[in-house]
Amino acid sequence: NYDEAEGTLLGELNGGLKAMFTMMNEARLGVGLQGLSLSEIAYQNAVSYAKDRLQGRSLSGAKAPDKKADPIIVHPDIRRSLMTMKAYNEAGRALALWTAIKSDVAHRSGDDKDRQAADDYTGLMTPVVKGVLTDKGFDHAVMAQQVFGGHGYIEEHGMSQFVRDARIAMIYEGANGIQALDLVGRKLAQNGGRAVQAFFKELGEFCEENRTDEKMAPFTKALKKGLNDLQAATMWLVQNAMAKPDNAGAASTDYMHLFGLVALGYMWAQMAKSAQAKLAEGANGAAPFYDTKLVTARFFMERIMPETATRLARISSGADTLMALPAEA
Ligand SMILES: Cc1cc2nc3c(=O)[nH]c(=O)nc-3n(C[C@H](O)[C@H](O)[C@H](O)COP(=O)(O)OP(=O)(O)OC[C@H]3O[C@@H](n4cnc5c(N)ncnc54)[C@H](O)[C@@H]3O)c2cc1C
Repeated sequence: NYDEAEGTLLGELNGGLKAMFTMMNEARLGVGLQGLSLSEIAYQNAVSYAKDRLQGRSLSGAKAPDKKADPIIVHPDIRRSLMTMKAYNEAGRALALWTAIKSDVAHRSGDDKDRQAADDYTGLMTPVVKGVLTDKGFDHAVMAQQVFGGHGYIEEHGMSQFVRDARIAMIYEGANGIQALDLVGRKLAQNGGRAVQAFFKELGEFCEENRTDEKMAPFTKALKKGLNDLQAATMWLVQNAMAKPDNAGAASTDYMHLFGLVALGYMWAQMAKSAQAKLAEGANGAAPFYDTKLVTARFFMERIMPETATRLARISSGADTLMALPAEA
């Protein structure tokens, strides 16, 4: 036991909690990467299995007529799962790297304004990276397990281990519900909303700068729609959460995911712009790589970004039905 033990004060008195949060914020970004990594390894296993497993025939005619069945990767519903994981993973990687760069700037830049802007961004995005990438890490581990059918449930292929490993990342370093509350309850309002306003401004300017570029239209239109939904949700919170804090709590998880969708959509819009520029320059033998990026970016915009409207509808429904029933009901 520690009776009579001597303690040594490190740093200033009462500075411990602040120091603990420095550690926690780094750990939260690390756990976000854990979610992303599990999503990626589960996806890689699922793609490999989908190319190998023979079951059923393609709806558009046999693709492997010499075999007893086609590989399941020919089926649109299997593609839906694989493309969803791929589109999230690549944007998640970009988001993690973007946040890492901002973190370096926040620590090392000699320019006070740059340092502050990067620090604002890192604080804002930490609960999003942790909460969204780990929620998706689990969803995708289950999705990849489903691609294996019954072979995903039994232990032989290791898919159920990915599901178990992804589950803890949603809980530790602050359960994801708490990340969402951190975003809505603390990060949005900090310094008069400086961080979130800067984020909106950057995305709005990107959409405006690329508005007349027709090749960018599939990306900028979907991103702008998502940004509008996010700004509407933020305004709804400003108008409805102060007077009734349960509205903020009821909105928080949907708001965190809405934020994540828009941030990931921004990553895809930038990757699409970069891929188009590389292809225009001749791509130096890497055209298939950039073409694949553009298809995946379109998939994200068409199939994943529309979820921002659902999230906004849930947020603006408020807390009333959530809180209406007594605990005994
Ligand atoms: C395997 C494992 C390893 C761990 N490793 C460590 C470690 O190394 N170091 C360490 O310090 N901790 C560690 N933890 C603890 C971990 O960080 C906590 O379990 C986690 O933060 C959740 O806290 P809790 O278990 O007390 O849940 P609770 O706080 O009881 O939360 C339960 C549920 O209620 C929700 N909830 C709680 N309060 C609110 C609120 N005000 N509003 C809305 N919803 C709320 C939460 O989101 C959660 O869904 C570990 C846990 C596990 C399982």
